[in-house]
Amino acid sequence: MHASDDKIQKLINPIESVAPAPGFGDGSSVPLDIRAQAEADRLGFWADRARELEWQTPFTEVLDWSNPPFARWFHDGKINVAVNCVDRHVAAGNGDRVAIHWEGEPGDTRTITYNDLHREVQRTANLLESFGIGKGDVVAIYLPMIPETVFAMLACARIGAVHSVIFGGFSADAIRSRVDSASAKLVITANGSVRKGRVFPLKETVDKALETPGHSVEKVLVVRRPEHEIDMVDGRDVWWHDVIEGVSDTHEAQAFDAEHPLFILYTSGTTGQPKGLWHASGGYLTQAAYTHRTSFDLRDNDIYWCSADVGWVTGHSYTVYGPLANGATQVMYEGTHDYPSLDRWFEIIERYGVTIFYTAPTAIRGFMKTGREIPLRHNLSSLRVLGSVGEPINPEAWEWFRDVIGSGKTPIVDTWWQTETGAHMIAPLVSQDALKPGSAQRPVPGVVVEVVDENGNRVDPGQMGLLTITEPWPSMARGIWGDDQRFIETYWSQFPGRYFAGDGAGVDLDGDLWLLGRVDDVMNVSGHRLSTAEIEATLDEHPFVAESAVVGADDETTGQAVVAFAVLKHSQREAIAAEDDVETLLRKHVAASIGAIARPKMLFAVEELPKTRSGKIMRRLLKDVSEGKPVGDTSTLTDAAVMDAIAQKVAARL
Ligand code: ATP
Ligand code: MG
Repeated sequence: MHASDDKIQKLINPIESVAPAPGFGDGSSVPLDIRAQAEADRLGFWADRARELEWQTPFTEVLDWSNPPFARWFHDGKINVAVNCVDRHVAAGNGDRVAIHWEGEPGDTRTITYNDLHREVQRTANLLESFGIGKGDVVAIYLPMIPETVFAMLACARIGAVHSVIFGGFSADAIRSRVDSASAKLVITANGSVRKGRVFPLKETVDKALETPGHSVEKVLVVRRPEHEIDMVDGRDVWWHDVIEGVSDTHEAQAFDAEHPLFILYTSGTTGQPKGLWHASGGYLTQAAYTHRTSFDLRDNDIYWCSADVGWVTGHSYTVYGPLANGATQVMYEGTHDYPSLDRWFEIIERYGVTIFYTAPTAIRGFMKTGREIPLRHNLSSLRVLGSVGEPINPEAWEWFRDVIGSGKTPIVDTWWQTETGAHMIAPLVSQDALKPGSAQRPVPGVVVEVVDENGNRVDPGQMGLLTITEPWPSMARGIWGDDQRFIETYWSQFPGRYFAGDGAGVDLDGDLWLLGRVDDVMNVSGHRLSTAEIEATLDEHPFVAESAVVGADDETTGQAVVAFAVLKHSQREAIAAEDDVETLLRKHVAASIGAIARPKMLFAVEELPKTRSGKIMRRLLKDVSEGKPVGDTSTLTDAAVMDAIAQKVAARL
């Protein structure tokens, strides 16, 4: 994929970089020569990271790659993941340290120390065992962001059961297909979750999922969260608070093979049917803990907060396993960012003195849309490091994040990774790198990537191509649950011996990486390769635009035509009203900054963009409507009304 036209190279050629704040690296535990260490002896480097955990039986072999793409890391070692996340810190005398400052949406709070967590996880482990759940059994978890979710995940890990967390907004069909694909024996849910002051049904959805017989579920364990009546099925359903009573809070943990499955998790479904990946214990925990410490430059007195739901991989690796393995203190919040007002997240940052805040570009662009006044009325000066994940972050949003939320001083770490990779793969080292707004920059030390063309040849600096990972890494998914062949075909067959992530990336003249979104999203307009991320970044630069999405719609004359959708900023309402044709103005803006070739053939100002439940833009749906086709699978879409409104608007003009 060679884009030689330098007008369309704007995004991947260095903008000025931002030096680390003076003195920021002081006190960092990330060694200055960490990259050199990893390069000198990659496997030795990973072995050292693994040895930072507690192994009941030490491993002697680091990597067994004799049957690619099925890696085994540290495979002759034995480890208990929950012991590493909890018991280890208690044993080291840190039991009084707060593990979780939990805040419910209605404003109720719970403070959970490592001692508390230790008791709760042991109790829950005993409870699950009393249901006959043990090593290798699959437990489906369909819960809101409450402490019991963490207890349940860690209890599974403690007894060697495999959890499969299902995002709490998913439908009965999604639950049933996930239950069936792994023969889950137990479902853990709640009588409801609290969303924007209302009860969102969970148990009713589980009931519906299990309505038709032929499933593997023996028991449904129900946490009581809101005031909300539900039906309990005799012999199948039990209340958590009833059955936990009197259960012992001491539990002897056994160690499991490093390769024992820890969890199954489905991808977000941005590009289509979600894929159920599974992760192993030792390697996954090694990389989750190491990257959580290194990417965020974690320090002893940090108060960390990741806003992701545990239903996504970010919640697994950077709310549960990474931070707890590191003995960190974190905030966990149940509700939405806009209830009861748009101040909610900023109040939380202020109240708990959050120092590290990890969120998604969709949230940042949402706050850009509603205006800087909201964050600016809070004292956010405790923030020291900000992180971004989930989609490419456009330079405009990066700068805004740093200026408005980060008081103009915090480093921003853009972290590229996937459900499949288990943990961060590309991210700058915030304590030592000069940062580039919009770039994830360099592979995590120990990870080796290469951007290649369609023939697998490495592209030159200044070019775009396909992102591949050339060496196995500890937290790599071990497969698609029950479907090894699909795992091979999906990720390992395009370039033999390499993992192909499905994402495009550019390499700038300094060798830094710019993630350009999915390869399917790269357009070909009259023989020119254009990346959607590039045009979107340009639109987002315009003062009127909060967020945008660009697709390539099939076009008889040009092959593909650029079609753009832009959400306009509320704060610019008056200026926008003064323009007689905002859509043409924005099309011209793209042509002026990238080149005529990139000028959108059509541009629609819309209220909202269609997004997955994890907050990612679903370009494939926009492409469908732009081509006049019926809209494809919307099962992972947050709000179907958004897509209906857009479809109407587009149909009126096609
Ligand atoms: P599906 O695979 O089902 O379509 P998904 O890819 O959105 O869904 P995830 O595993 O949650 O599911 O997301 C991983 C993807 O998110 C990456 O492949 C990439 O496209 C995007 N992504 C994540 N972080 C970044 C980032 N920092 N910069 C750019 N893109 C990112
Ligand atoms: Mg994906």
